[in-house]
Amino acid sequence: MSAEDAEKAAFHERLLAFEGVSTGMQEGHDEVNQAMIRHWVDAMGDANPIYTDAAAAAKTVHGGIIAPPTMLQAWVMRGLNPRPTTGGSKQDELMNLLDGAGFTSVVATNCEQEYDRMLHLGDHLRTRSVIDSISEEKHTALGIGHFVTTRVEYETLDGEPVGRQLFRILKFKPGTGKGAPADAKEDDEPKAKRPRPALTLDNKWWFDAAKDHRLMIQRCATCDVLRHPPRPRCDKCGSYEWNALEASGKGTVYSFVVAHYPQVPAFDYPLPIALVELEEGTRLVADLVDVGPADVKVGMAVDVVWQDHDEDLTLPAFTPAGG
Ligand SMILES: [Zn+2]
Repeated sequence: MSAEDAEKAAFHERLLAFEGVSTGMQEGHDEVNQAMIRHWVDAMGDANPIYTDAAAAAKTVHGGIIAPPTMLQAWVMRGLNPRPTTGGSKQDELMNLLDGAGFTSVVATNCEQEYDRMLHLGDHLRTRSVIDSISEEKHTALGIGHFVTTRVEYETLDGEPVGRQLFRILKFKPGTGKGAPADAKEDDEPKAKRPRPALTLDNKWWFDAAKDHRLMIQRCATCDVLRHPPRPRCDKCGSYEWNALEASGKGTVYSFVVAHYPQVPAFDYPLPIALVELEEGTRLVADLVDVGPADVKVGMAVDVVWQDHDEDLTLPAFTPAGG
């Protein structure tokens, strides 16, 4: 067993000491009452008159208004009081132990309830709670943590059992789940290189100019029509003769998309990509930088900026004009 595994086992042993331990008795602040029931059924969208209409409820087998059974937990909830860091219940002690070991996040994962009878207005409940089980360390999608299951017995102040609940939570270390930084590549691992353009005799000159941070536009030498991407022949007149001019780098967003998936390692996402209309009159596709995806607008003015991705590849990108 590695030192790390031994440490985990020792910590789990400390946790297991809490299994089967009573965490005390708690009394509900209020009796089962109409106001809380009304708020609850409003929130749930439950229009059953047995919960709110005394006359209708009186004609049922229950003889009067009952509380929705699944409200059970609401009658003895502890509220928003912060957990004491010392001198609390065994449950508080267990949670503080987990917090201290870095398992500071919590999410409820399961809730199973059993009902012995319906609850009526005026019932006053209390709970007796026992820590039912604590799992060994688990790797979950949310993170590394321990499942803690608590059994809560609900009874009236006279001691009559009315129901019980098994409640399971996951106490986990934040940032240790799938896709978390700790799971991602090491910082010193070099970023993947951008895909290479397919260089040919017809387009290499354009990428060479880009290395010098010059944005070139190919122009037909016969009819003066501009074209991009570079290609051997004019679409307008069919001429193979061409020259080029250097663009100012000013343009507007003619259209754009924001790429989310599939994610290629060399790129950062979400990635806004624009079809930029250059002021000279032709268009090209390029990344948009220094602008949030939600802030990109068709027609917005943009300026070229140069991105030296690596020693062999420099590409133009565009940023909102005027910084
Ligand atoms: Zn032409």
